[in-house]
Amino acid sequence: MSALILDGKALAKSREQQLQAAVKKFQDGGGLQPVLATILVGDDPSSATYVQMKINACARVGMGSRFIRLPAATTTQELLSKIDQLNKDPDVCGILLQHPVPEQIDERACFDAITIEKDVDGVTTQGFGQMSMGEQAFGSATPAGIMTLLKHYDIPLSGKHAVVLGRSPILGKPMAAMLLNANATVTICHSRTNNLAALVAQADIIVGAVGKPELIKAAWIKDGAVVVDAGYHAGGIGDIEKAGLENRVAALTPVPGGVGPMTINALISQTLESAEKLETC
Ligand code: NAP
Repeated sequence: MSALILDGKALAKSREQQLQAAVKKFQDGGGLQPVLATILVGDDPSSATYVQMKINACARVGMGSRFIRLPAATTTQELLSKIDQLNKDPDVCGILLQHPVPEQIDERACFDAITIEKDVDGVTTQGFGQMSMGEQAFGSATPAGIMTLLKHYDIPLSGKHAVVLGRSPILGKPMAAMLLNANATVTICHSRTNNLAALVAQADIIVGAVGKPELIKAAWIKDGAVVVDAGYHAGGIGDIEKAGLENRVAALTPVPGGVGPMTINALISQTLESAEKLETC
């Protein structure tokens, strides 16, 4: 068996062409240019790169962006006040607060201060709750991008056993809820889970989101499984060890070029959706 490669880079590129046309149509119809506000707090170089990639993606599809860079010593109150300004700004239709923020900041309070209509990165508690209940809300960008990728490649989810490794608020938990809403049977694993290998061995679909290079071993994964790796570490290594998998699993996301491009694509798609819904944009 040769694994189907779930090519997020190619899919994101073709979806950007559609988005570019949709942005033009929106503006031709009298809408203002959709603008994504990006907030970066502190000096972390990886975070700066991720924000720049999101700004570049906006530019490629004809959307605007507003970059707000705040010093590492920013307080929760200062960040909340900036978010409040952006919530009220009629020119801004989406707000991205780059995770993680420096540790003195209450990140959850700041995420939750983003008004639901502009929560295009899907980070608020309200948005998570609505999405989990199957109600309308922007999904957390990484799991939303993964769902788009799985749908594009017609990966069956209903009745399948999905094992999600990781339970973070922006990735593991919303991923599990989205798979459950798609009628998968979902197991969530985390750092206190006993016998990870045995649980992974039962999985038809595995989502690796643990933030540790190759923590999930190829030998644990059964033949014919669908393998989604959200991790990215130096040297193009993911959270899942891939040795030999390409010859025995059904489908596989490459690292890089799998989940990462789809995350950005979900963010900019949801920004356009927000512009279409917000009368002010
Ligand atoms: P995170 O907040 O650090 O969460 C990691 C999760 O993994 C936690 O739930 C943790 O469990 C669990 N975990 C850690 N060690 C474990 C172990 N030994 N066994 C089982 N579970 C373990 O990370 P995150 O933000 O969700 O990100 C996860 C990965 O996705 C990272 O590699 C990150 O770089 C990547 N990511 C990629 C994108 C993208 O666009 N491609 C976006 C976001 C994140 P506890 O809850 O018990 O601590």
